[in-house]
Amino acid sequence: MTTRVRVRFAPSPTGEPHVGNVRTAIFDWLFARHHGGDFVIRVEDTDQARKTEGATELMLESLKWLGLEWDEGPDVGGPHEPYHQSQRLEYYRDAIESLLSAGSAYRCFCSPDRLTALREQQQKDDSDRIGYDGKCRDVDADASRDRAASGQSSVVRFKMPENGITEAIDIIRGNVSFENALYDDFVMLKSDGYPTYHLANVVDDHHMQITHVTRAVEWLSSLPLHVQLYRALGWDAPEFAHLPLILAADRTKLSKRHGATSVLEFREMGVLPETLLNFLALLGWSLDDKTEIFAPEQLIEHFTLDRVGRSDAVFDFEKLNWMNGVHIREASPDRLADALLDHWTQYPPDEFPKTPDREFALRIVPLIHDRIKSLPEAAPLVSFLLRERIDYDNEELIQKGMDIESTCSVLQASQEGLALLEAFDSEAIEALLRPMAKELDVNVGQVLGTLRVAATGLKVSPPIFETLEAMGQERAVRSIHAALDRLQTGATRYS
Ligand code: GLU
Repeated sequence: MTTRVRVRFAPSPTGEPHVGNVRTAIFDWLFARHHGGDFVIRVEDTDQARKTEGATELMLESLKWLGLEWDEGPDVGGPHEPYHQSQRLEYYRDAIESLLSAGSAYRCFCSPDRLTALREQQQKDDSDRIGYDGKCRDVDADASRDRAASGQSSVVRFKMPENGITEAIDIIRGNVSFENALYDDFVMLKSDGYPTYHLANVVDDHHMQITHVTRAVEWLSSLPLHVQLYRALGWDAPEFAHLPLILAADRTKLSKRHGATSVLEFREMGVLPETLLNFLALLGWSLDDKTEIFAPEQLIEHFTLDRVGRSDAVFDFEKLNWMNGVHIREASPDRLADALLDHWTQYPPDEFPKTPDREFALRIVPLIHDRIKSLPEAAPLVSFLLRERIDYDNEELIQKGMDIESTCSVLQASQEGLALLEAFDSEAIEALLRPMAKELDVNVGQVLGTLRVAATGLKVSPPIFETLEAMGQERAVRSIHAALDRLQTGATRYS
């Protein structure tokens, strides 16, 4: 019988949801979904000093926006509740008790001052070994318990083997080994009673029956600590995969100074969630080194860890913009309308006098579908449809090679023709205007240029036939009538 795959994403609630962490979540999720397994979210919130208010909520919101629904974790619950480490302290205390009684751990009473002095001395001596010197290793177990019981402050450390090597398998790197002498007796339980990452992570991965740990390569150096802990606790370790580093184009670690790094910033910039999912999935994974565009279902279908590379991945902002244009063009009208509406609701565009409804979003999709590479580019192109008044200089109506008189004839004929159309759609409008230009002996570009300004107030707009259709017959005719009126009377406002 094969074991059901169970993968967890274990964010620490510090700061904004960074694309590096979210890339890990995406790989976890894809791996779980590809294998029909469970995707679990566990919040690693035991570091009281680094915790920031609201960070968990922002991370969860980002994952939801990307479509990474989870099977167990905050909001949805599950058989291993609670999913916040700060509420699981008894599990860590139990593990500490068993490690202490097995002699694999000990209480350390060294003061922070002593530890600082020790470190400074080691640095001064250029010592091979930086870290704890094991002073409290040999404190007698009974004495240690008594000192703790009498209220003396202590931490609990793990007894790392002093020499030899710790071997492990990383799915991406193969066999990896670490010299134990380079590791000191790390702290597992702090004096405030909270566990450190190493302990809590191992204990929870065990109790939550996690089968695969997929996480950033920054954690690879912690692997020997975890392997030793599993051994000391008598538990089987999960399988491990450490994902490559994400660099910016200048080959330094991606950070704020390179531009946006939070998922929410990309959302605000108008990147579609399916674009960001696709883009981040390719930071370390590839199908065949040439396919770039994947829908979420295709990623799930193809994602395997053996296609994850070891080399650093480069975050290319230009590629992200290009990819967003492709996903926008490939989106169905319904999907694009939803994405636009979501964006307008979250970040109301300055150009809009009011938040539009879905009917409006659907109406304008044909106008902008092929013209935008990010969602905020849509609002300036279509805001005239939402405004009661549009404004322009009268001269803008008069195209090159034309004068007031010929422009008025164009407006007059267009107004009459459009008012009589039975089916007011872009084909019928085109079929009316093209021959009309010929009859008036002006070129089509001149007619369309005049109508564009009359209808939208813009010199550059979405395709004019579709635009007129989207405006609707009554409004289109009214705006042409107003333009005519302006030219004939010299009025300057549309009414
Ligand atoms: N809480 C750790 C982090 O935020 C999780 C590391 C792991 O997945 O083991 O990176």
